[in-house]
Amino acid sequence: MDSQTENPQQIEAGRLAEAFRLFSQASEDLAGAYTSLQEQVAGLTAELALANGRLKQEIAEKTALTERLALLLDALPAGVAVLDAFGRVEQANPAAASILGADIEGRVWEEFTSSCLAPTTTPGEWEMPRLRDRRIAVTETRLASSGGRIVLIHDVTEAHRMKTLAARNDRLAAMGEMAAGLAHQLRTPLAAALLYAGALENPRLPEGERTRCGTRVVERLQHLERLIRDMLTFARGEASGGESIPVSELMAEAVQVFEPLARRREVAFVVADDSAGAAVSGSRKALSGALVNLMENALDACASGGRIELAAGLADGAVCIRVRDNGRGMDAATQARLFEPFFTTRAEGTGLGLAIARGVARAHGGGIEVESAPGAGALFRLTLPAVVTNPAGATEQLQPMERRATCLSH
Ligand code: ADP
Repeated sequence: MDSQTENPQQIEAGRLAEAFRLFSQASEDLAGAYTSLQEQVAGLTAELALANGRLKQEIAEKTALTERLALLLDALPAGVAVLDAFGRVEQANPAAASILGADIEGRVWEEFTSSCLAPTTTPGEWEMPRLRDRRIAVTETRLASSGGRIVLIHDVTEAHRMKTLAARNDRLAAMGEMAAGLAHQLRTPLAAALLYAGALENPRLPEGERTRCGTRVVERLQHLERLIRDMLTFARGEASGGESIPVSELMAEAVQVFEPLARRREVAFVVADDSAGAAVSGSRKALSGALVNLMENALDACASGGRIELAAGLADGAVCIRVRDNGRGMDAATQARLFEPFFTTRAEGTGLGLAIARGVARAHGGGIEVESAPGAGALFRLTLPAVVTNPAGATEQLQPMERRATCLSH
């Protein structure tokens, strides 16, 4: 019997059988997929449990670390403040409150510092006039991730007091050594002045001779006066005044004093100011005096037709002022004694100019160095820390300068 002869019931039964077969097939597939899914779920659950375990352990470790850090912060003798990206103090440890004499949490750091801190001549160090001139050192580190900052605050009042005391003791010791030298320095011009003054007593002295002796007396007395003035400057030593002085102003003042002197001696004078608006902090009078002294020495070393260069630049957070001449230069022995009080090779010199200049540079946290050779001129470098107007960024500039000051000043 062919398909055309099959009756409808047979056809329906065939279809049903086929449908049943397909259904059984689908059921088997589904059962297989279900089993595989169950296996996957079991695998994932196991992985999740593992990850959860690790996470719990990490959380426990982090909690322990946070506790340790919190304890450490509380116990630290230095003040620590955490600032957010807007400069507001998010967190401060007890030492910060105790050093600053105020609870600074929630306050804007810059507002607090500008109302309570006064700058000192040492970059990065500030005085707190409200707290009996407590002195603090402030250093900052940027937090790259949050844009905030961590501020470290140290109470350096005692360290500064000891430093000042040590500097004063050093000066007193140096003064003691100098006393003998001074007596000698005073005796020579005094003896000469007495000699000329004695000659003036002679009634038979010709008029021309009388005038010459009178001039000599005045010259010797002026020399004595200069010597005593330099001695006093050296003895005072301190960099009084915490004024912020633009380097270009310092240069302009020195040029104003020096240009006529150079012109009179027919020495070319070249100025290059690359200080890019930088400033230094301290005593304007002392710094400009030190600079003019370097230039006067250069002028003294140059013959007519010589050349002196005055240049200022910035490097590593420090201002460097250079005075270069093409004069007679110095041998190594002279260079080794340059900064000794009373060391001079000039008949009219007091030998205190460079001792004072070095004292001034050191009192401002800087130094002076020299490069020279006989017949090859001399280059004096006066290096000073560039000033910052608020605690932000003070350390980046202070640290390299401190290193430089130690190797330049001796
Ligand atoms: P003074 O100028 O009174 O001699 P200073 O302390 O200023 O005292 O200088 C000490 C000595 O250093 C000078 O007498 C001189 O011998 C030497 N000196 C300083 N600057 C120069 C220079 N630019 N060139 C050569 N010698 C110098």
